[in-house]
Amino acid sequence: MKLTPWILTLIAAAGLIPARASSHAIHPPAEDSDVTVYFARIGPMANAVWKTGETTALQLFGRIGVHLRFANARPAQPDSGAINLLVLNRAPKNLKPHVLGAAKTDPEYGPVVFVFYDRVLEFCASTYTEETGIVLGYVIAHELGHALRSEPGHSQAGVMKGHWDQKDAAAMLKHLVSFTRADSERIHLGLADRKLAKTAPTGGN
Ligand SMILES: [Zn+2]
Repeated sequence: MKLTPWILTLIAAAGLIPARASSHAIHPPAEDSDVTVYFARIGPMANAVWKTGETTALQLFGRIGVHLRFANARPAQPDSGAINLLVLNRAPKNLKPHVLGAAKTDPEYGPVVFVFYDRVLEFCASTYTEETGIVLGYVIAHELGHALRSEPGHSQAGVMKGHWDQKDAAAMLKHLVSFTRADSERIHLGLADRKLAKTAPTGGN
């Protein structure tokens, strides 16, 4: 799927498109279950909310043996295994109600996942920083789950459930919601596919 121009403009504005000039960033070799997430936040958000969101997403993936690495600067050398995360202040106007995020794949930029912070706040309906951050982390984990797992779609339960209600939110705030075992397997299968794609000889096509 080709990303629409406004998305590309946002990615560029967020500094997610690598600079053309070379840089000398050094990256440690990644383990198979390591995933780098280049993130950008567009619009105001309390730093404590973001930090809680990041920690929550890290923990959710940590429980299934996947190590996320959040970085806010993209290296000049394209990193084909990385995922781009854009946290937008506002959902696009034409977006259906109750949609909290989205996951796309762009032929040039690879996986790009979106989180719409106004929708997170609406769903969360809490003024507590900690609670908002936890729900934010769940939305981030859900969208990254779409980008990583081996098949599209949703599950009946867990982080990859298609529609969350207030009961789910209450369970999330107690950290009781995880990836299901089946989703964990799909994510590990997806990671294995990504590794194969990365190591496959290039050229042709
Ligand atoms: Zn979803």
